[in-house]
Amino acid sequence: MIVVLRPDITKRAETAVLKEIRKLGYKPHVMRGVERTVVGAIGDERTHHTLEALASWPQVEQVMPVQKKYKLVSREAHKGNSVARIKGLSVGGRKFHVMAGPCSVESERQLMTSALAVKKAGATVLRGGAFKPRTSPYEFQGLGEKGLKLLAKASRETGLPVITELLSQDHAEMVAEYADILQIGTRNAQNFQLLIAAAKTGKPVLLKRGLAMKIEEWLLAGEYVLANDNPNLLFCERGIRTFETYTRNTLDLSAVPIIKQESHCPIVIDPSQGCGRADLVTAMCKGAVAMGADALLVEVHPDPSKAWSDGAQQLSLEGFGKLMKEIIPFLAAAGREPAWA
Ligand code: PEP
Ligand code: MN
Repeated sequence: MIVVLRPDITKRAETAVLKEIRKLGYKPHVMRGVERTVVGAIGDERTHHTLEALASWPQVEQVMPVQKKYKLVSREAHKGNSVARIKGLSVGGRKFHVMAGPCSVESERQLMTSALAVKKAGATVLRGGAFKPRTSPYEFQGLGEKGLKLLAKASRETGLPVITELLSQDHAEMVAEYADILQIGTRNAQNFQLLIAAAKTGKPVLLKRGLAMKIEEWLLAGEYVLANDNPNLLFCERGIRTFETYTRNTLDLSAVPIIKQESHCPIVIDPSQGCGRADLVTAMCKGAVAMGADALLVEVHPDPSKAWSDGAQQLSLEGFGKLMKEIIPFLAAAGREPAWA
């Protein structure tokens, strides 16, 4: 920490600050400038007591951290890229994965039609929401456990692992029984008890970025998963809320190189929630691949016009097939191989 003292304070006031810094387990290093005295407090900011309270002392002008708050998710902790193990798949390596399927599981027929089509087109993971976090309590809330059972059946029949959202800690064990990846949605990205419960199931966790979350907060939320002994964490950018109205959210593709710099964990892009518009999905996928993303999470529905949730952003089965072909040259340019070829 850097502690900036106010100008013209007494020697006694300065000594009191140095004493407090020592008391909290840091070694003070005093630097005297022409107008200001600055104290470097040497010690591990993550394990020692915080010095932030010093900012309220009258003789202190400012307290600034120098260390990052996250540890386990950081690149410093692990120089190479970490690879999330999902059943037999590895996400985060040279092979690029696409997770696809409907926003919500609606019926056996809708799910099976989607699962077979996305598999045929190359998807390696099947998505589908059984517990849906809807803004209005009057909208379709998902089929619940029945939806999970359908996902498990689709998984058995296609061989695709499944990803589905965990909405409540109460359901952690149940959802983990059926799912191969637990999705933590944007609305729960800082629900720390839920993150801990998800981590403790031992299943890989895909953590969406909160819709008003800074990247530092997102990394710290991910830290909860690793700190609870679960190494299989995937970050997922799905758009943040801005003033723009042409898209449902603003898909922040700059998060890809930033997460790659700051963390060793894989990064997934969800262009469906990201833009809320099916016509933008393919372009955003190409951009995500070029940026260095490790995987995509795409909503696909046999008839988007009849979808029970998120109809405007879901690709048709044909649209998805086209997307899978169109991203191939972008994968080659980014030095990645399609996991499905
Ligand atoms: C979804 O994937 O359907 C979903 C609800 O995601 P998000 O939490 O990103 O809105
Ligand atoms: Mn959706």
